[in-house]
Formats: sequence, C-alpha cells, structure tokens
Amino acid sequence: MKCIKCDTQMFKADLTEGLFSLMLRNKKKGVFETEKQSYVSCYVCENCGYIELYANNPKDLKLD
Ligand SMILES: [Zn+2]
Repeated sequence: MKCIKCDTQMFKADLTEGLFSLMLRNKKKGVFETEKQSYVSCYVCENCGYIELYANNPKDLKLD
C-alpha cells in the first residue's frame, strides 16, 4: 500500500490505547440491542508519518 500524500510504501502497525487494541463499535439505541464491533488495522507512512485506518470487518459493523 502506498501513501496517498507522498507515494511511499506504508507498513502496518498496531494502534493501541495502552494494552488494548482500538476497536470500532456500533449499536442501535436500546438496552437490548447487541453491539457490533470491529478491530482496526493501521498503516503508517515511514516518510511523512501519515496514517490510514481500516476496519477489519466493516460489514459486521453495519446496522440492519
Ligand atoms: Zn507519506
């Protein structure tokens, strides 16, 4: 994957908050609705520091 800012090859890194990997969450209003979750992948440009984030399983996050 190439950086959209400077066209340098990007590498994957873990985006965390301390010990925990960052996660996307989505949920309908209401106590009994189940929460949908997806982990996040992060790519970093070694030249300019630009980062890109991807949901690992975006379809699982979509509410019906
Ligand atoms: Zn870059």
